[in-house]
Amino acid sequence: MPLYLGLDCSTQSLTAIVLDVDDADDAGGAGRADGAGGAGGAGGAAGRRAVVLERSLEFDRALPSYGTTHGVLTSADPRVVTAPPALWADALDHLLGAIAASGLDLSRLAAIAGSAQQHGSVYLDATAADVWRSLDPARPIGGQIADTFSRPVSPVWMDTSTTVECEEITQAMGGAARVAAITGSRAFERFTGPQIRRFWKTDPAGYARTDRIHLVSSFLASLLTGAHAPLDPGDASGMTLMDLTASRWSPDALAATAPDLARRLPAIVPAPTVVGTLAPYWRARHGLPAASVVAWSGDNPSSLVGLGLVRAGMLGLSLGTSDVVFGPLAEVRVDPAGTGHVFGAPIGGVMGLTVFRNGSLARERVRDACGLDWAGFSAALAASPPGNRGALMLPWFEPEITPHVPRGGARTRGLDETDRRDGRDGRDEPGVAARVRAVVEGQMASMATHAAWMGLDVRTIHATGGASANREILQVMADVFDADVLRFETTNAACLGAALRAFHAHARARGRAVDWPDVVQGVAEPVAASRVRPDPAGVRASLGMRREWQEFERAELRTRRG
Ligand code: ADP
Repeated sequence: MPLYLGLDCSTQSLTAIVLDVDDADDAGGAGRADGAGGAGGAGGAAGRRAVVLERSLEFDRALPSYGTTHGVLTSADPRVVTAPPALWADALDHLLGAIAASGLDLSRLAAIAGSAQQHGSVYLDATAADVWRSLDPARPIGGQIADTFSRPVSPVWMDTSTTVECEEITQAMGGAARVAAITGSRAFERFTGPQIRRFWKTDPAGYARTDRIHLVSSFLASLLTGAHAPLDPGDASGMTLMDLTASRWSPDALAATAPDLARRLPAIVPAPTVVGTLAPYWRARHGLPAASVVAWSGDNPSSLVGLGLVRAGMLGLSLGTSDVVFGPLAEVRVDPAGTGHVFGAPIGGVMGLTVFRNGSLARERVRDACGLDWAGFSAALAASPPGNRGALMLPWFEPEITPHVPRGGARTRGLDETDRRDGRDGRDEPGVAARVRAVVEGQMASMATHAAWMGLDVRTIHATGGASANREILQVMADVFDADVLRFETTNAACLGAALRAFHAHARARGRAVDWPDVVQGVAEPVAASRVRPDPAGVRASLGMRREWQEFERAELRTRRG
């Protein structure tokens, strides 16, 4: 039975998941009882998939000589955040070594794919490919490739130093709406195009020496194959450089970014493409077989697969530090408000993604202000009625990304009345339950409102992230979105997505197309029995609440912008 390796190079760590796929009779496999109630799809059940190994390596701890803190290097200018690219190469070496020593029979390793933090870029001179081809397997990779970088550090997604370049690119391309219409997002500081432009402006000699600019994803795929690897449309769409509809570099965007850029960029290939074979260096160094290497992608597109979001009408909702709404789109469309993103999807077509900054942080603020723990927070939600008797909150404790609110300051309406009324009713904690419900309903109303541009008929939501453990929060989600909510218990959806992509592309390369619902079946599936259904009365009350909330938000934004 073949093994598939998925790797995920995130900001702070490199993770590996090895998937064992019982591929013997894909057509007639027994499949599994769909305990989640239909999420998996019945037809064409594939064989068993099992995660047989999961390993992670934390950059700061495993490779301290690179001097990173939480995986990055900061500088005197707090807007500049970078990482040393050789660190990722050495991390790959360490982790592949650990996997090789794990006792797994790696002669069965059929294919490798990867996921990497989006937007980060690696700048190489013309010697890189020759150096990769002649690496000495007796020595670690980092030192051997140290002289191949035309820019010693890689700007990463946390870098915000390119405000001016974003403006310049936007101007040159004819405005933010046009940038979004072509590339899927307006220009953001962390996106790669503005970063490349800044490099060209601040270090023209370094730019002139640059032969190839990779994303973290295609850089690591290149190291694995020993030759420059192409990009997939998912990661390429985080650069402000790709024509989203054509999956090709946009001549307008290239011209607006830096001179002579086209020849410095990798090719763009469909996501399920085998881009090469594991290079002799890794085979000799770690005793690995000549496995296929599949095009890597970014972490968001990879998570789409790892969370089983493989059909239109499925929405992912990650309740973490930030709350993120994302899902496959039926057609290419962009967010007219300019805060959402459209990326290429590894399952074909495109995906939408919108980030809300006031996620866990806002929930914790209210929890703490009310003197509750999470159990008390849940009890407060259960004790308060959907619609919250008209009490509302705009949960912008910190500056918000969606909608764009540059200065923090949460607003409430109707909570004081609730305080008085509940006080009169003789409750112990006047208004506490209403405050808790106001923050969660406010967040859900905001997400439903500002993800509407995706044009989805949402039937099923896959909820993940720390707060998805809270069933009462998921009930509010189900009522506000009028959709079933299923919880995903996964610590690394992007890495699992990469392993599944390795399987899918490898099968496809051998002429056997496996449908995506079959690819994810039995492994990227929600916790059985976690289904939360919308409550009809809750849905009715939430509809009214959403209208009131939207009016409240419009009025507040008018005041702030006026
Ligand atoms: P990150 O985005 O940093 O990966 P996580 O997805 O790990 O964040 O989520 C961590 C957050 O989950 C914590 O900050 C906490 O606010 C939240 N959390 C944990 N348990 C609960 C709970 N029972 N109810 C609501 N929120 C919770």
